[in-house]
Amino acid sequence: ADRLRRATSGGPGRTADGHPVELLLNIGSAADLRPEVEAEGVGLFRTEFLFLDRREAPGFDEQVAAYEEVFRAFPDGKVVVRTLDAGSDKPLPFLGAGREPNPALGVRGLRVARGRPAVLDTQLDAIAEAARRSDAEPWVMAPMVSTVAEADDFAARARARGITRVGAMIEVPAAALRADRLLERLDFLSIGTNDLSQYAFAADRQHGELADLLDPWQPGLLRLVSECARAGRAAGKPVGVCGEAAADPLLAPVLVGLGVTSLSMSAPSVAPVRDALALRSLERCRNDARTALEADDPARARRAVAAGGPR
Ligand code: PEP
Ligand code: MG
Repeated sequence: ADRLRRATSGGPGRTADGHPVELLLNIGSAADLRPEVEAEGVGLFRTEFLFLDRREAPGFDEQVAAYEEVFRAFPDGKVVVRTLDAGSDKPLPFLGAGREPNPALGVRGLRVARGRPAVLDTQLDAIAEAARRSDAEPWVMAPMVSTVAEADDFAARARARGITRVGAMIEVPAAALRADRLLERLDFLSIGTNDLSQYAFAADRQHGELADLLDPWQPGLLRLVSECARAGRAAGKPVGVCGEAAADPLLAPVLVGLGVTSLSMSAPSVAPVRDALALRSLERCRNDARTALEADDPARARRAVAAGGPR
């Protein structure tokens, strides 16, 4: 645990003029926590690893142990747990995935709870129990939330178990457009730009030939991010980005300029993103955000922001 704890010993992320931006880690298990990386916590704990390659869902005890290990590594830091994101690019045999004609548009993420609520309920029970045992107060969010009704249902299940910080990933454009309403019942949002791009541009995220549409500099994607950040500011609640967009040192300041409050990424990106933010004032980030939003396409957005140079 000591080794893992040091993973969050770094100072907070800041712009050149001291505006705080939480820098968090994306992890798949406790094994991804690396002592040399200075982050303030975990912004996306993908729990799929527990469920992969199995004939049945992992039991309560096994889940408690896995979650507890991560919570104990961050006694004072933030840990955002994402409930199971099965289906589509993460098929799970025991859920019968793979039998749909359009898995990316099918029963994936939170939607699994429609037919198999026990899988979600057991996971929430295990998260709550792990939190009790390690005296942690985790943030818990659901993937692939599309509607306010889904958010309500998830929040009710989580809060019934004593989980106090309940949120949703924003991966579906309709949810981004209703960010204000979602934040009336949730405590935070985390934008998953990988799936948000896929669904906003109707382009399979694994389709190499469509990479230009999935470019996180797409002004259309940035507009959706901006919508969520604005809702977060109005509600006084955190809105972060945990997709690949957050790991681009030139784009991270743009996201901050749009108003996001945290950036979560895999370990190797933390230091470059921290350095990029430290070179730019918040005012500069806001100018870069306006520049990127006004560009006609991703290449122009990137070029225009890069041309400004750090300041
Ligand atoms: C995302 O969709 O941006 C995200 C962070 O989740 P995942 O990549 O696990 O789907
Ligand atoms: Mg996703």
